[in-house]
Amino acid sequence: MDLPVDEWKSYILQKWSLLPKAVRVTISTAETLSDIFLHSSSLLQPEDEMFLKKLSRGYSVGKDPDAPFFYREEGNKKFQEKNYIGAAVLYSKGVSHCSPDTEDISLCYANRSAALFRLGQYEVTMQSVVDPQEKAMALPPPPLEAWNISRSKESFVTSSKQVRLATGIFPVVSLLNHSCSPNTSLSFAGTVVTIRATQQIGKGQEILHCYGPHESRMSIAERQQKLKSQYFFDCSCPACHTEELRTAVGPRWEAFCCNSCRALMKGNAVLSCDTRSCAESISRDHLLSRLQQLQQHVEMAQKLLRNGKLEQAIQQLLVYQQDAKSFLWREHTMVGKIEDNLAQAYATLGDWQKSAAHLQKSLQVVEARYGPTSVEVGHELFKLAQVLFNGFAVPEALNTIQKAEKVLMVHVGPQSSEIKELQEMRSCLLDLPPALVGPSV
Ligand SMILES: [Zn+2]
Ligand SMILES: [Zn+2]
Repeated sequence: MDLPVDEWKSYILQKWSLLPKAVRVTISTAETLSDIFLHSSSLLQPEDEMFLKKLSRGYSVGKDPDAPFFYREEGNKKFQEKNYIGAAVLYSKGVSHCSPDTEDISLCYANRSAALFRLGQYEVTMQSVVDPQEKAMALPPPPLEAWNISRSKESFVTSSKQVRLATGIFPVVSLLNHSCSPNTSLSFAGTVVTIRATQQIGKGQEILHCYGPHESRMSIAERQQKLKSQYFFDCSCPACHTEELRTAVGPRWEAFCCNSCRALMKGNAVLSCDTRSCAESISRDHLLSRLQQLQQHVEMAQKLLRNGKLEQAIQQLLVYQQDAKSFLWREHTMVGKIEDNLAQAYATLGDWQKSAAHLQKSLQVVEARYGPTSVEVGHELFKLAQVLFNGFAVPEALNTIQKAEKVLMVHVGPQSSEIKELQEMRSCLLDLPPALVGPSV
């Protein structure tokens, strides 16, 4: 690599020659690398940093968008071979190719933490855990991508999934029993966990929270299996009880629709249309392989999106949107995912109007699955508020900000960055001179 090391070296040599003799002796006689670092790090002045920045400005190191994934995969191989040093080095290489505030950087940091933990480097591990987005600690993950949209026309939209980076022990919270349909919501701020009621809880009624397997996120079979293997009990919460009694239609977010009349398809190995007058029937396997194919296509479009090939991504996603409509139920997760990706692509292009339209569709899917007061809907409303704000759609933005605030207040609390940002957006919109208020989205 052609880096300006020589210029930096001569700068440091000059600085060294100006140091008092006693300091030079202390540093030269230090026995370990960390002692040298300890003695010299306090000598670094802001002007040194300025010089370094000036020096490196002309030497931009290209980031390869595919590199984080590559290095992470290679690191994972080393990790499996128990070569933790090799794994940590590869994850660090991955980090160097990541853009800030991305899912990639969170994952690389998280994996590197795991490798360092195995090596016994606990302090560095903690730093790795704290470095990426703090919100990564929050559970549960949003159903769709969470975006980071800065509030300007030149904004760069990135996506990030919430990643579980660390495990903590909370003795008081541990006293609460599990329900797949709980009456509380849990949020983290640093190492403090807060529990808020999501519904009216009567005197003497049990306060329940969800250990992870929530009725809107997993099927009953998956929940029961997870709770059994992680917590060693058979769940008999009301949600599990009613679901067992219900006939096996399967969740709506995994359902298929009739190719000719768009009604719900029902059945096991062979699915038949729910409309009496319609004779349509099809094998489940056929539909599942179609879904798998669509999934692969959407993943390729997401890759284009990540690499900034927006027009191409949009073109493909619009085709997949039509394909999805022809066989997936309108509340299917994939339908929402495609809409969310389209919204993200248009937001990156600065086409806030189209972005908002697609986001409203993905919001409907999320709402059907998780319920209108869920944290998942809160995250979607937050994104919509950002998009409407950027598009100067003032009445719609104010309305969405209010809805998002109401939902998120219960789940993440008044001190969360999301609530603060919503409040800032509102006061900014209310301060706008009338002439600046453009057409509505
Ligand atoms: Zn249950
Ligand atoms: Zn039909």
